[in-house]
Amino acid sequence: MSLREFLGQAEKEKEVLHVKDSVSTRFQIAYVMKQFDCEGPILYFDDVKDFETSVIANVSGTRKRVCSALGVSQELLCRRMIEVWRCPIRPKIVKSATVKECVQRDVDLSKIPVLRHFESDAGPYITSAVVHARSIDGNIENVSVHRLEVLDKKHLAIRLVPRHLASLFQAARKAGKDLDVAISVGVHPAVLLAASSPLPFGVCEYDVANAMLNGGLKLTECERVNASAVADAELVLEGRILASKEVAEGPFVDITGTCDVQRKQPVVDVVGVMHRENYIYHALLSSGMEHLILMGLPHEALIWDAVSKVVPKVCAVNLSKGGSGWLHAVISIEKQVEGDGKNALLAAFAAHPSLKHAVVVDSDIDVFDVSDVEWAVATRFQGSEDLVVIENVRGSTLDPSADQEKVLTSKVGFDATRPFSKPKERFERARIPIDRSLEKLVRRLKKL
Ligand code: MN
Repeated sequence: MSLREFLGQAEKEKEVLHVKDSVSTRFQIAYVMKQFDCEGPILYFDDVKDFETSVIANVSGTRKRVCSALGVSQELLCRRMIEVWRCPIRPKIVKSATVKECVQRDVDLSKIPVLRHFESDAGPYITSAVVHARSIDGNIENVSVHRLEVLDKKHLAIRLVPRHLASLFQAARKAGKDLDVAISVGVHPAVLLAASSPLPFGVCEYDVANAMLNGGLKLTECERVNASAVADAELVLEGRILASKEVAEGPFVDITGTCDVQRKQPVVDVVGVMHRENYIYHALLSSGMEHLILMGLPHEALIWDAVSKVVPKVCAVNLSKGGSGWLHAVISIEKQVEGDGKNALLAAFAAHPSLKHAVVVDSDIDVFDVSDVEWAVATRFQGSEDLVVIENVRGSTLDPSADQEKVLTSKVGFDATRPFSKPKERFERARIPIDRSLEKLVRRLKKL
């Protein structure tokens, strides 16, 4: 299953909006993307000024589309993700890959329609790439998503948060070696979701993506570097993260929609470019819905799993849009004993270290409806009893209100589950009897 196949399916379902007008990669495409950001269609920019290549955006921009890409219902998404995390399957490696249709001898990144997104960004950024690397002994493989700043025709700055790829790179650097990477752009949503999943070091995210696609992922070895790429990706950059070079990377607007600071980061020397004939470039608006969904969904599954271990039943988890799909969680549970709500909060904070505020509600509350959640806080929550504040814990580097140097933050949990000390009826939403005979009347009135 490739991105191309998924787009074909989305076209049939009328989920794709073609933009025929000529638009520029310099802010214009980002501007249009922003206007369609909430529950919007896939945007297909056919005419990109100064480029032959088409640009697509907002591919995984709605939960519904992600679920359809994975062939799973929204209710079962978390379960499905946890299932595949536990049963990764090695993908097939193929020699003849569609991404090898065009192999560029002269690397020139300025020929790729990389977007300028926000005016405060340091430059054009590739934001939808999955990066594969092997440890120098070849025993460990890792795939993860990294923002890549285009520095010149042959070089990218790569942001390495202190996670798996950073560890592989540090080890290579200690041995005095560059780290080979395959950078795949234009991949199926399952590959991006797997690469954003919080898996243990040593589990290759490609294997998880392959399990998610029921064995349908194919890889291909790069020609110039020791790394493997997605065989039916739209575009692959072959590169080496240089052991002995660093540049100032950023500023860059990240998931919160605020500007992330400039830091010294490593440089990728791009030594090869391969792409499909008439390749499509996948643009991803940082802080847009697609970004929130790809980073958020795997972490909702992580929270769901962790909370399931301490309370009898978790009904739903939402890393909400207002919390940038990253800092705020709403979790609905079936509470059995007093205290379940607080245990659920502690489990959620432990599972997702970037989580800052969390609300636990009963199963009658819709975690995706902000007003419903607020209503639960208004009618079931007492600050003196139900509030959990934890100071000086590890938070997110992306939260400007936290100590971004030490990455310390305060976490606040709201146990908005109904207390057992009072009768249940007092907390129930009052009902008006359903009268089917009035349905026609209401429909007519609503049309007026
Ligand atoms: Mn990993």
